Amino acid sequence: MNTPEKYNEDHTDLENQIKYTEKVREILAAKKRINKACIITFGCQQNEADSERLMGQAISMGYIKTDIPDEADLIIYNTCAVREHAELRTLSRTGALKKLKEKNPNLVIGLWGCMVTQNHRMNDIKMKYPYVDFVAGTNMLHRLPEILCDVMVSGRRRYYVNEEPAVTVENVPVCRNSNLKAYVSVMYGCNNFCTYCVVPHVRGRERSRQKEHILDEVRGLIKNGCKEITLLGQNVNSYDPGNGYRFPDLINEICALDGDFTLRFMTSHPKDASDELLNAISHNPKVERHFHLPMQSGSTEILRRMNRKYTAEQYLDLARRIKSAVPDIALTTDIIVGFPGETEEDFEKTLDIVRELRFDSIFAFIYSPRVGTHAAQMEDPVTYEQKTARMARLLEMQTQISAEINASFIGKTVTALCDTREKMQNGLFAARTSSGKLVFFESELCGDELYGKTIEIKISRSTAAQIYGTKV
Ligand code: SAH
Ligand code: SF4
Repeated sequence: MNTPEKYNEDHTDLENQIKYTEKVREILAAKKRINKACIITFGCQQNEADSERLMGQAISMGYIKTDIPDEADLIIYNTCAVREHAELRTLSRTGALKKLKEKNPNLVIGLWGCMVTQNHRMNDIKMKYPYVDFVAGTNMLHRLPEILCDVMVSGRRRYYVNEEPAVTVENVPVCRNSNLKAYVSVMYGCNNFCTYCVVPHVRGRERSRQKEHILDEVRGLIKNGCKEITLLGQNVNSYDPGNGYRFPDLINEICALDGDFTLRFMTSHPKDASDELLNAISHNPKVERHFHLPMQSGSTEILRRMNRKYTAEQYLDLARRIKSAVPDIALTTDIIVGFPGETEEDFEKTLDIVRELRFDSIFAFIYSPRVGTHAAQMEDPVTYEQKTARMARLLEMQTQISAEINASFIGKTVTALCDTREKMQNGLFAARTSSGKLVFFESELCGDELYGKTIEIKISRSTAAQIYGTKV
């Protein structure tokens, strides 16, 4: 919980950052050139939201936003640690920055966030990537001005490791990637310690924002024409700002605000999804008809070893209750294939639930051992070949299910928010339904007339990944 005393302390720190911002502004102005900042995000929506705050601070310091690394004077990689693949991709792209540094001696390079919050990765960067100027942990989000000032004034490499306890700071400048859709963090960190997961290790303990700050942010977004707001937290059901106020109360209060907008949220841990939450969804038409409910495995024994704190039966029961409370809801999930010691029988239990629940879509990952997590110590007799073969079977089953669900839309009319101005490569416009389904459509209108509008589309064909139609 975020105590008022802590909040005041954080606020003082933000005032310090304003002084550093001015200092960096002066340093950049003395260069008598346009200074551009490029921030590249790896990983999840929380990282996307953090990058918007990094860019907001960069702009306050006098940088201009660019998406092209070659023309940037400040490049920050906002990194992900959730699977090894994400880390290796980031490291290989970090290697490619060396050339840019040689071309532009003014360039400042920083690595931010989850991957480099881990000591072993921070050391990797120190030893093997001498052209990286600074490294900063997840809790340093509001301190970019201080860090840049330090690097620029000292001319030395700097390492900002996370400080505990982590703080929650309001009023950090933000530069949003879209004026139509916005992420709003309601809480940070995670206390669940699922045994495979690095998130609690790199993002620290749970802390919730005060509801007034969230409501102010949401009101501002609605006023600026935002149409879709996604509330973010590693487990939104543990949102706890004190005084018994809970996540369903927040949903109800946001939905009571005037305005033409809809609400999404993620992620909801099955062990904490309450009847109050289901009520809040079913009674508020502003809440989109999509529930992401990560299952991870259909085997109670594997769930126990993952420390998920629910059984396969409890998961099934919850999913059925969600479907009956909100009949038009699309259910999606995350699944880890090949957790240490997963037997063929365990895996088939996952397939059984996938077959029964008929998720709209799934995000499936092969288990990736993470340094410092409990599961990384577990014995794992299952070979990588067995894991990839299981993954292929799971994806084959889900592709069939998604294709059948999507085919059932043919001949129907769906409502969707058009979120692109340009036609896509297939010559069609793109929109998203309330359930999060991607719809490609034809229209005689131009992109400017369609963008940001909720439109009706008559569906004529489908694949496993999307549906196609014509604007009615
Ligand atoms: N807080 C969210 C998810 C965070 S990570 C939740 O609890 O649902 C997103 C997804 O990545 C997880 O749901 C899980 O399926 C996957 N994941 C996390 N750690 C992983 C690992 N070590 N190997 C493979 N997949 C992993
Ligand atoms: Fe990771 Fe589990 Fe926390 Fe999600 S709930 S972030 S999977 S530890």
